Amino acid sequence: MNIILLGPPGAGKGTQANLLVEHHGMLQLSTGDMLRETRKADTELGRRVAAVMDAGELVSDEIVSAMIDAKLSDMGDEVGAIFDGYPRTEAQAHSLDDILAKHGRKLHHVIELAVDEDALVDRITGRFTCAKCGEGYHERHKQPAQQGVCDKCGSTEFKRRADDTEETVRTRMNEYRAKTAPILPIYDARGIVQRVDGMAAIDDVTTAIEKVLASA
Ligand code: ADP
Ligand code: ADP
Ligand code: ZN
Repeated sequence: MNIILLGPPGAGKGTQANLLVEHHGMLQLSTGDMLRETRKADTELGRRVAAVMDAGELVSDEIVSAMIDAKLSDMGDEVGAIFDGYPRTEAQAHSLDDILAKHGRKLHHVIELAVDEDALVDRITGRFTCAKCGEGYHERHKQPAQQGVCDKCGSTEFKRRADDTEETVRTRMNEYRAKTAPILPIYDARGIVQRVDGMAAIDDVTTAIEKVLASA
């Protein structure tokens, strides 16, 4: 099974993708995570990517589509893919069609996480992750069971994203509205979009997604 998790920044794509990986052994393909690896490198590309991300703008379609193609090439055919944060533009949606066809895969569901824009600033400015294993947390909605200790790996080091500021959230939201939301009709026409209430509690969102996956 191959699915897309679609929603604005902070909607809960990464959180839900992680849970699907745990429950179903699927693989999460997050272009955001891939680009955060790229920007670490002291290279011309790394610096360019970092500048675009910190401005809250979108990295070029060619770069991200090439990353997705490469990841799928490394994956076993039997492993399902969760596209998290990709595609984000119409050009990327068309590239994904070509890439999936090339790898003999089909797209089963596009799950739209619907959230109030007002909640996104709170979601993003309160977001932090484990520095060691990457588990996602939130200052108010998802603290580790023991304060300061990662539930997953026991690490006591956490980090925040350079682009998770109130200022960039606005730009990222505008980018979503202008470039990403318009790809929904492409998938709507194929009858594969399922809307899930992303404002519900994390577990309830998971239950709703599980229901979609269990449907035909
Ligand atoms: P969020 O989890 O807040 O939705 P991501 O981690 O998916 O954010 O992406 C962080 C940043 O990386 C984006 O603001 C953008 O600059 C870049 N990025 C990630 N995925 C893509 C993509 N598919 N196309 C273009 N830029 C991307
Ligand atoms: P995205 O990948 O779409 O940008 P994340 O999964 O990183 O979003 O979630 C953004 C922040 O909101 C994280 O700190 C996460 O713990 C928190 N969060 C995710 N889903 C929910 C939810 N349903 N209710 C409250 N907080 C949530
Ligand atoms: Zn951890």
